Amino acid sequence: MPDFTKGAAWMDGQIIPVADAKISVLDWGLTHSDITYDVVPVWNGSFFRLPDYLARFRQSLAALQLTIPQTPEEITTILHRMVARSGLRQSYVSMVASRGVPMVAGSRDPRDCANHFYAWCVPYVHIAKPELAERGVHLWISKSSRRIPEDSVNPRAKNYHWGDFTTGLLEAKQAGFDNTALLDHDGNVTEGPGFNIFALKGNTIVTSDHGVLHGITRRTMIELCEARGLAVETRPLPLAELMEADEVFMSSSGGGAIPVTRVDDRVFSNDSPGPVARSLRADYFALLERGDLSQPITY
Ligand code: PLP
Repeated sequence: MPDFTKGAAWMDGQIIPVADAKISVLDWGLTHSDITYDVVPVWNGSFFRLPDYLARFRQSLAALQLTIPQTPEEITTILHRMVARSGLRQSYVSMVASRGVPMVAGSRDPRDCANHFYAWCVPYVHIAKPELAERGVHLWISKSSRRIPEDSVNPRAKNYHWGDFTTGLLEAKQAGFDNTALLDHDGNVTEGPGFNIFALKGNTIVTSDHGVLHGITRRTMIELCEARGLAVETRPLPLAELMEADEVFMSSSGGGAIPVTRVDDRVFSNDSPGPVARSLRADYFALLERGDLSQPITY
């Protein structure tokens, strides 16, 4: 009996245990990070905002000129069947399209590669463990790594170019911090590994509009902020403005709104999560529980 306890994958038409899912060492997804992906959460046995994640995935494919045979409807079916087979009711579900292996051996022409799609799911990933979100994340602004410029690698096409984040993360861990956020070359706060960043001052919330992935959770946060009567500004966020904020939080499909209580040596709201970040976190999970934007899976 295949063991799906650690998750499942869909590859070449088969659903297999995630540990058995492999790609070739010649795949440009691996050798050139020439790959795009998207990650949709499953909560209480339902996909959250799946059509929105699929739409972003299609945009990423177009941006990178990747072509796969699966239609959005087929991908929907694949994801439903795969998660059902895994039995996971809370899951991190990844859909991936890679440039693939050159069909002409040794070719350096991306058009010679056989693009391909695969998917996998594992138990739900909290990018900050719930206890950490409860305490508040300590965020380190990387000193040696800037976010890769958007005219070099398009951050809106979700990608595996994580060298800048990994450098920042190693710096953060060495400095005793939980996570990192990167600046752009103009000193504006962009994003971190797997999350967008928001700053609240008075009644106004600011999050960057450029140099970042347009997170689906970012979108949910904007909607939840507006529903709470907050003014939302999507524009560059200078570091000095972040440091002057009343509250800071991160947003991710892996945990919703995640309060930040420290950025470098600055301590926010008496070193505990601020009331707005707390409320937005609760709003997000209430929305997941209500299922307004969810698609149930038939297990
Ligand atoms: N920014 C980056 C670089 C990411 O990788 C992610 C998600 O993994 C996000 C932001 C947040 O996006 P979403 O809310 O769609 O999960």
